[in-house]
Amino acid sequence: LLLNPMAYQLLGQSQLSSKSLLQALPGLQLDGLFNEFISVVETSHAIQKEIYYAHDDIECWFEILLVKLGDGLTVTFRDITKRKQIELALEKANLELTNQANLDGLTQIANRRYFDQYLAEQWQQLKLEQRPLALILADVDYFKLYNDNYGHQGGDRCLIKVAQTLSHHLPTAESLAARYGGEEFGIILPQTSLEQAAQVGEILRQAIHTLRLDHAHSQVCSWVTLSLGVSAVVPGDIQSPEGLIAQADRALYQAKQKGRNRLECA
Ligand code: GH3
Ligand code: MG
Ligand code: MG
Repeated sequence: LLLNPMAYQLLGQSQLSSKSLLQALPGLQLDGLFNEFISVVETSHAIQKEIYYAHDDIECWFEILLVKLGDGLTVTFRDITKRKQIELALEKANLELTNQANLDGLTQIANRRYFDQYLAEQWQQLKLEQRPLALILADVDYFKLYNDNYGHQGGDRCLIKVAQTLSHHLPTAESLAARYGGEEFGIILPQTSLEQAAQVGEILRQAIHTLRLDHAHSQVCSWVTLSLGVSAVVPGDIQSPEGLIAQADRALYQAKQKGRNRLECA
């Protein structure tokens, strides 16, 4: 009987009287819309929905309001395309901001802030599941000498390569490699035993070794190497993630003491 302006724009000149609404809007995603028409008529409860519509040269977001009228219903269309575009742009910008806040500026892997957050999340999750959480701390050997020899910018390039290599050799999508600080990296391995984590650590150590990045002043090897400390625990057996970090840190210290370019387990 009546078309509001948005409905008119969508339906154009088409004769609603001779077509069903759904025929008049080709390409409309039904998604149970027809059932909602029935529900409005049966229950008298109005329904409001946002719908994306693209067909031919029309691309828009509209909101429909379904209200019972007599033994039928009215469908009112409102153009919300501008608002929706702004919302989507805002969502995208927020996502980018969050990503930026979680990334280390130099290496573009996760930063310390995100490392702490992810470790706390995994701790809570695995405490419930009573499954192990493993941690690796990896530190570049004789990196001060590297900087002294190749310059700070050379050192920066080296850290980028090490970071990217570590993150490319993670065993699962749930694993995380982060820049823990300076030339030190933290690798979080959920649902991983100490033994499994040691295997991952060994793969990482070899991956860095086989990059064959020259390190002429290293006291242990002519290429850049890592020392690694590994720890694992079922959360709850010790009280906090800090305990897990402290264990990995002590193991890393052992690896340094025993000559570097090696892995030690807590
Ligand atoms: P070790 O084998 O015992 O770990 O010796 P090391 O020389 O690696 O350890 P040390 O802690 O003495 O030196 C770490 C060096 O890492 C010193 C610091 O200037 C350098 N460093 C930390 N952050 C950065 C960075 O972002 N870029 C560069 N180029 N160097 C960094
Ligand atoms: Mg070091
Ligand atoms: Mg260090």
